[in-house]
Amino acid sequence: MVAMKNKAKDHNPHPRVLITGGAGFIGSHLAEALLNRGCQVTIIDDLSTGNFDNVAHLVPHPEFKYAIDTINNEGLMDRMVSECEMVYHLAAAVGVHLIVEKPIHTNQINIMGTEIILRTSARYGVKVLVTSSSEVYGRGNNVPFSENDDVVLGPTVQSRWSYAASKMVDEFMALAYFREKGLPVVIVRLFNTIGPRQVGHYGMVVPRFIGQALRGEQLTVYGDGQQSRCFLDIRDAVRALIVLAEEPKAVGQVFNVGSIQEVTIFELACKVLQTVGREAIPENIAFMSYDQAYMAGFEDMRRRVPDISKIRDLIGWEPQYTLEQALEHIVAGYEAQIG
Ligand code: UDP
Repeated sequence: MVAMKNKAKDHNPHPRVLITGGAGFIGSHLAEALLNRGCQVTIIDDLSTGNFDNVAHLVPHPEFKYAIDTINNEGLMDRMVSECEMVYHLAAAVGVHLIVEKPIHTNQINIMGTEIILRTSARYGVKVLVTSSSEVYGRGNNVPFSENDDVVLGPTVQSRWSYAASKMVDEFMALAYFREKGLPVVIVRLFNTIGPRQVGHYGMVVPRFIGQALRGEQLTVYGDGQQSRCFLDIRDAVRALIVLAEEPKAVGQVFNVGSIQEVTIFELACKVLQTVGREAIPENIAFMSYDQAYMAGFEDMRRRVPDISKIRDLIGWEPQYTLEQALEHIVAGYEAQIG
């Protein structure tokens, strides 16, 4: 057993990893996958949007450690970064509702926090994978979005754009550390990602719809429901993060990671209803204006589709799960919980 574990570590370029935001939806799945790869995994999370329940099952694992603290605690980050070979930086204020409601917190975590991660990582030469977001494409209407596309954001009086701007600053800073200090960084622009443990109270549509569908409520579709997204299964997202982190040629580059199966939000509502065994009929869907759902003047993205040719060409990654399979997987998880 011990010999097997050591063997796994021999083939692992980063036997000790740190995941910031490790108790979040994506971080907790990543932690699990890296433990299965034979890594020692340490997470840090301030539980602002993360939840300890997401990682409680990992606590007995001998290679798992956690700290409940903020990444803005530089002394702690210095020690934690010095003890690993790879940082997956996922900690961020996320979700449209939270960003609109708490713009100061968003900037403190997303800008200052990332600066601390990069500074401490540069001190020890530890590689960093920075998770950015498809939000950086702003209100651009290119379909699909390609990594080198121009970016157009809305005005600063609309706090919605502060998230995109903060993630752009993260990308600029990561690339600056790469160029000036030689810090190995990889930047990933995650598009809509879904899976078990994602919660709806920060705005994400899939867990909201699934919760509403399972409670027998109407599904609340914002706007006319003709806006579209591509939803990536968490299992595909985690695989992309790990392979990119371990690929030397990915260093200093930006990659889109997302599904290319485009669906309108209305179609999504119908699929969710069908997945839980309810009829996709108008009575089960309620339309709600954006002003009512968010705040006056809120601007939604009409379409959001990634161009994934860059990651596909470099590491051969592409999604393996369809939207339907991802929805089945999430609903099965809820049903198992309910018993
Ligand atoms: N949305 C919706 N009902 C909800 C939550 C969201 O119709 O209860 C819509 C939202 O307006 C957007 C899409 O679903 O057009 C995806 O929203 P989400 O916040 O999940 O992701 P993002 O807007 O960041 O792509």
